[in-house]
Amino acid sequence: MSTIFEKILAGEIPANVVYEDDDIFAFHDISPQAPVHVLVIPKKKIRSFSNLKDSEIEFVGRYMSGVSKVASLLKLDDSGYRVVFNHGKDGQQTVDYIHAHIIGGRSLTWPPG
Ligand code: AMP
Repeated sequence: MSTIFEKILAGEIPANVVYEDDDIFAFHDISPQAPVHVLVIPKKKIRSFSNLKDSEIEFVGRYMSGVSKVASLLKLDDSGYRVVFNHGKDGQQTVDYIHAHIIGGRSLTWPPG
């Protein structure tokens, strides 16, 4: 069964798109936890952060570089931001398709809950 993010990529579900290129797709989170909350997914499906180690290193590099590029497009470089990958049950991952949360636009607290 395809995940909600695959349906978004396929255009079956609408998304508020921030950026797209050959490798990545970035869109606003439907339930933002901060003034800026954007999700970045690779167009090639990876199930979770723990599966990245099995991926081609150049692909991983392009994905990470893309996350950094999206944060810049969101004008967060000066103020700062957080990148979060939730993995598995304890990490509260709810969608089985790897996604980077870019969270910013306010001063974030630490440690996370
Ligand atoms: P996670 O808990 O790390 O798996 O994050 C999944 C994220 O996907 C949550 O922050 C949700 O708010 C977000 N989300 C779920 N459905 C949608 C959707 N249709 N459009 C945008 N974001 C979504």
